[in-house]
Amino acid sequence: MKNTMICMALALTAVTGFSGGYAFAAETGKAQTIIRNGEQAAIKGSAQFFTGNVRIDPLYPANNAMRSSGGSVTFEPGARSNWHIHPVGQVLIITSGVGRTQEWGKPIQEVRPGDVIICPVGVKHWHGAAPNSSMSHISICEEKEPGKVVEWMEKVTDEQYNGK
Ligand code: MN
Repeated sequence: MKNTMICMALALTAVTGFSGGYAFAAETGKAQTIIRNGEQAAIKGSAQFFTGNVRIDPLYPANNAMRSSGGSVTFEPGARSNWHIHPVGQVLIITSGVGRTQEWGKPIQEVRPGDVIICPVGVKHWHGAAPNSSMSHISICEEKEPGKVVEWMEKVTDEQYNGK
């Protein structure tokens, strides 16, 4: 099985171990795979790519037949990603709390559970929690090439985060 990375786990360094062990239906053609809740260790979001405390819970890796990967990402109040782009885009499904997202040059948008953010290829953006609330979202990305789901950029400053 090729190496794979969880979208948003994105740490591009932290998750290289996350590919082994599972026999994927798409690869065997014989059976479904159930990855049990709790089987996969959570990953702390790297301070290189995030501000504040962020936890990434891997959900599923990409494989040779299905090139998306998914993870659940939880941001503590005030925590957010760096600015970044996705080479094949990204879908975010807000699952709890109150969050914020912003495209470069546009106003901050507040997001809530059930909201779905579809981020096109190459659009510079960030996402994270609101100042006084945590936020969790499921992140789904496709790999452009093995392991490549995000291109990291500079940090979101406090001024940018506060919309000033
Ligand atoms: Mn993103």
